[in-house]
Parts: sequence; structure tokens; C-alpha cells
Amino acid sequence: MLKHQVIVIGGGLAGLRAAVESAMMGVDTAVLSLLYPVRSHSGAAQGGINAALANMEECKDDTPTRHAYDTVKGSDFLADQDCAEILTTDAPKRIYELEHWGVPFSRLPDGRIAQRPFGGAGYPRTCYASDKTGLYLLHTLNEQAVKHKVQVYNEWAAISLASDGKQNHGLVAMNLQTGEIASFAADAVLFAVGGAGRIFKRTSNAMQSTGYCLGVAYKAGVPLKDMEFVQFHPTTIIGTNILMTEGARGEGGYLVNNQGERFMSKYAPKAMELAPRDIVSRSIQTEINEGRGFPEGGGCMHLDIRHLGREKILERLPGIRDICISFLGIDPIDKPIPIQPGQHFIMGGIDTDKDGSTILPGVFASGECAAVSVHGANRLGGNSLLECVVMGQRSGAAAANYVKGKSSAIKEAVLNDALKKSTSEVEQLLKSNGKERLVNLRDSMAQTMTDKVGVFRDGKAMSEALATIQELRKCYRDIGVDAKNRKFNLDLLRTIELGGMLDVAEAIVAGAVARQESRGAHSRLDFKTRDDVNWMKHTLAHFTPDGARLEYEPVTKTKWEPEERKY
Ligand SMILES: Cc1cc2nc3c(=O)[nH]c(=O)nc-3n(C[C@H](O)[C@H](O)[C@H](O)COP(=O)(O)OP(=O)(O)OC[C@H]3O[C@@H](n4cnc5c(N)ncnc54)[C@H](O)[C@@H]3O)c2cc1C
Repeated sequence: MLKHQVIVIGGGLAGLRAAVESAMMGVDTAVLSLLYPVRSHSGAAQGGINAALANMEECKDDTPTRHAYDTVKGSDFLADQDCAEILTTDAPKRIYELEHWGVPFSRLPDGRIAQRPFGGAGYPRTCYASDKTGLYLLHTLNEQAVKHKVQVYNEWAAISLASDGKQNHGLVAMNLQTGEIASFAADAVLFAVGGAGRIFKRTSNAMQSTGYCLGVAYKAGVPLKDMEFVQFHPTTIIGTNILMTEGARGEGGYLVNNQGERFMSKYAPKAMELAPRDIVSRSIQTEINEGRGFPEGGGCMHLDIRHLGREKILERLPGIRDICISFLGIDPIDKPIPIQPGQHFIMGGIDTDKDGSTILPGVFASGECAAVSVHGANRLGGNSLLECVVMGQRSGAAAANYVKGKSSAIKEAVLNDALKKSTSEVEQLLKSNGKERLVNLRDSMAQTMTDKVGVFRDGKAMSEALATIQELRKCYRDIGVDAKNRKFNLDLLRTIELGGMLDVAEAIVAGAVARQESRGAHSRLDFKTRDDVNWMKHTLAHFTPDGARLEYEPVTKTKWEPEERKY
């Protein structure tokens, strides 16, 4: 049996930041990751990371409190305000730390870090490294993980926790290279497994962002919080739904309909293209629904950056230009980019407190998979990378402190039972010749979620979606795995993942059906307004074999009363 004091599941930005913190505190720390850490989805982040550094002429009086206010307002007042304040107060410290570790931020002529405007922010507050911010952050943190001797288990899939209901003792994982299933003893397990975009058909997320591991925590008794709040990014390219960063609008890009109008003037006259994402996505979808879209890709708008000029595009947005040339055959220097909203981020996730602890002792979570909650009903662009480094640091410290103060020993019997159970489940799947096929079930789930639990929602469509997901969960019991080999059996891995994805999808829809209001990214045509009297509360979904059992919990307020969001 392999053993570490802290095992972090996931080598993205949150996982690496947590692991570095824990290792720096002298705790034996390992990362177990499906992918080589630098291939994590964090590396795809383009636009930037927020912090009230007040470096730009236009934002000399910016402060962490203003940043917290923008975050809370952006969240449609569902974020816990104490957590939003922690996020924004720690932000400058974390950015300068990253700078000292070597992140090549884009700079002002005097050498300070440059900042660009992003949606929903009162100021240009987003620090960036060209349009490859996430890649640089991830590589820099990987260097720190190597420096601090964090052991990395590459190409291992975590498949279950080893909990006795009162405490967690480690986890069970599958080695993709050999097919071996093994248990890992750990005093603390920290989930940093990223997003769940692949539950949807149209998504900007990488193949790895399945949300499966949220299901692992959920099944072990840790509730999922606010899962109905799913962010749809306004600008993903048609066909593949690869992201066009908000930075393109931050640099001055326009959104244009088939009448040649900058239609955002109707929906957010002041902020225009830089209104928060929920508002811009709804505006685009409304234009498409009302016939002012272009027909390509089932309906789209144009993102036009031609007026920025060749030089600025090559300097500030070279990555998105490359994507347009490779995936659309369009050079945005000469032609507008056809875009449509696509799933991008999950505001909800594994329920944690402000230090990343969950209700199950020995289990922590951080990054996109966690709901602290700093994003509430709608996340601001640039706040997610920030959450990864701020909350990653805090949760890594919390896990290390937990380990240092822990007196009870790991129970090997619990680990052995978990290993036996998971091994038998995987063996059964491998042997199964069931009639249901992975691609059909997965495609049906993803299409249903995009069609019926998307930018605009209503009770009827969502109830249909719930029935479909429940039916798919039944079908899953009769799924067959075609590939029977053990080495890199992706058919097997994807089949295991689908089980967890369906559980998580069910929690999303159940929470969305129950929440009878419109707030942030949860926009219902049958309940069009926000209802602070009845719904200013967090949803907690508890796993049961028949589906989510929902409970609610109050939102923490510190300084700000809810107000109408106008931009
Ligand atoms: C295209 C794109 C652009 C973005 N741009 C920005 C931006 O400019 N600014 C911003 O703030 N945010 C941005 N975001 C959001 C932000 O990048 C992510 O929310 C954030 O990087 C997630 O980091 P993470 O560490 O939580 O997860 P990830 O980076 O997704 O890492 C997840 C890790 O979990 C591992 N893992 C998953 N399942 C398992 C398993 N079963 N077993 C073991 N390991 C597992 C994976 O191997 C991976 O290492 C963007 C997102 C996308 C998709």
C-alpha cells in the first residue's frame, strides 16, 4: 500500500498550489493526476487573473474591497461575502508571489504588471501574460512542485475514497498505464479535479473536465453545493466551442449581429461587451432566438476584433488568432469570428468552508471543483485562476495543519475494503457484455443538458431533462465495455467516468428544477426575477441512490445588501 500524509487529486493550478503549500510546511505530499500536471485544463486559460494592484492609470484607487464588491455583485449576491473578501484581500500577495516565482506577466513600460479590463469589473484589474496566462502559471507552479519534492503519480485515475463515514483514510485509484488498481493511505485527501464541462455538449472545457471526481466525493457523503449554477461563456467558436477569451473584448472587441449592430447597447448600455458573462450570454442567445443571428453552427454572432489592428492582435491575442486559423480557417485580422455561448465553468462544486475543509474529516477540496463559495450564481472572468491560487494555498495549509494535529491512525481495514469494492466493480464492468453503449448514453446526457439546462431554462424542459438523466442512470446499469485489455483502456475509464457524470448531472438538474427564481447564470423563463425572500440561500445536494436530496443553507453577508444588477 502506498502512503503519504497528504494526497492531492489533480495536478492543475489549484492542486499544484495546494501541494506546494503543504510540502513547504514540511508535510509528505503527493499529487495523483489523470494527466501530466502541465496538461491540465488550467493551461488553456487565456485571459488572466484578477487582483486589485491599482497599476493602471484608470484604476489608481482600486482596492481589494472594490474587487470584493464587484465579485459579490457579479455573483448576483449568492457568494459568501466573507469568502469573497478573503479571495480579493489575498489576491495581490499571491500575484506577487507568482511574479517572484517567475511568471512572465505582460508589463507596463515602467516594468509593473499590466492589467486589462474584464467583464463585470469596475476597473482594469486582470493581470495577464499575453493570452496564455494559465499556461505560464501552471508551468511556474510545476517548477515549484519539483523544487519542493512533491511526488507526482502521473496517469492515475482516482476512483473512490476510503471512508468509514466518520473519517477518511485514503483513496483507491487505477493506474492507466497498467490497469492496476491500488489503495493509497493518506491522512488528508484534497480534491483539485477541475470542472465538469463535458457533462454538456457545447463546452469550452478539455476532455478531462468530466466532473466524474465530484461524483466520487458526493458518493462518499460530501454534499455538492449550488450545482445548478453553470456558467455559459458568451464567446466560444462554432463547431468545437473552443474559447475566445474575454480578453478579446477586454482589448476592445465588438459583438455584432446580422444587422451589423453592436447589440449589447440594448442590454448593458454602460458596460456593453464587458457586462458579466451571464448577461452577455443571454443577450447573444436572445439575438439568435429573435432571428438576428448568423446561421452557421446552428446560430451565432460575430466577435469582431479587426479594428484593433494587426499589431495589437499579434501582441495581445496571438493564441486566439492561431485557434481561429487552425479550427475555423479564419484570420481574425481580416474577418469576424463566429461565436456562440458554450458551457464554460461550474460555480457549484464540493461543499467546503473557507479553508477548503469538507464535512468529512480528512477530505478537502479546492479550485473549480470546490464551492467555497466565492462565485455564487455567476463567476467574473479572471476570478477562477485567482481562486485556484488563493484557495489552493489556504486548503494546502489547512490539509497540512490537519495532518500535523491528527492523533488517530489510518485504518488499513477501511482501505482494504474500499480496494476490494472498487476492484470488484471495475472487474464487473470489464467483464460486462451489457447492451447499452458508452457513446450513446454519454451523448444523450450531454445533448439533453445543453438543450434543456442551458442559458435559458424552464420548469417543463428541466423536468424532461431530469427524467432523461434518471433513465440514463438506469440504462448505465446495463452498460457493456467493448475493450477488454488493461493497458490504457480508455473505453473502461470513460465508462467508469460516465457513472459519476450522471450522478453529478442529476444533482445539477435537481437543484435547477427546485430553484424557482432567476439568479445569475440560472435564468428561468417561468420565474424571471430574483427572489431574495425565498431563494437567497445555497443549495446542498446529498447523494442517495435515487438521486439528490436537497437541503439549503444561508448565505453569509458582511458589507453588502442585495441590489439590482445594472451594468
Ligand atoms: C478554455 C478556458 C479558458 C479559461 N480562461 C480563464 C481565464 O482567463 N481566467 C480565469 O480566471 N479562469 C479561466 N478559466 C477557468 C480556469 O482556467 C479553471 O477554472 C481553472 O484553471 C481550474 O483549475 P483546477 O486546478 O481547479 O482544475 P484543472 O486545471 O482542470 O485540473 C484538474 C486536474 O484534475 C485531474 N483529475 C481529474 N479527474 C481526475 C481523476 N479521476 N483522478 C486523478 N486526477 C484527476 C486532472 O488530471 C487535472 O490535473 C478558463 C477555463 C477554460 C476551460
